[in-house]
Amino acid sequence: MDSMLQFMKLIGQLKRVPRTGWVYRNVKQPESVSDHMYRMSMMALTIEDRSLNKDKCVKLALVHDMAECIVGDIAPADNISKAEKHRREKEAMEHLTGLLNEGLRKEIYDLWNEYETQASPEAKLVKELDQLEMILQAHEYEQLEGTPGRLEEFFTSTQGRFHHPEVLRLVESLNEERAKGMGKGRVAVAAQADNSQDTQANTPSTSS
Ligand code: ZN
Repeated sequence: MDSMLQFMKLIGQLKRVPRTGWVYRNVKQPESVSDHMYRMSMMALTIEDRSLNKDKCVKLALVHDMAECIVGDIAPADNISKAEKHRREKEAMEHLTGLLNEGLRKEIYDLWNEYETQASPEAKLVKELDQLEMILQAHEYEQLEGTPGRLEEFFTSTQGRFHHPEVLRLVESLNEERAKGMGKGRVAVAAQADNSQDTQANTPSTSS
């Protein structure tokens, strides 16, 4: 098979690799790894800090979890050591980039390695975006499921990990919105109980 096509097919598998953190918490229809990397890439694209190379941030976001198309999304709960996880991902990256021409091979492998070793300010920013994207997704699942606070562990696990002012600002807004939702969540449930007759009236009859 054409090796570029083979590369594209392998990358396409990311659409079918669910994010393990959500699977373990029984989130219904959890997002895929490529869903996560897409929004991270958009986050990188909207960064305003001119001291950073924005194009590189977008590329790092696009590449950082690429190896998961082969090794899967290994979560802390899987009890696989950091060294073993790195070894598997490195091997997968060598295989993936081995399908590309020399210039691309080096570009993509080096991007992955830069993120993996947190070797630049861009890699550090993208790591913060990785965590921000995760807690934003956790908040959205809590809203979708109507279970405010259920995914608290994702918020506590990222506490103190944010440093970039633009990311911090977003984290603060998110925490404020979530706190409001947790307060209003109970009120909304009570209101729903009070209006149960109205709700029924608005529900299309199944027998018609
Ligand atoms: Zn990620």
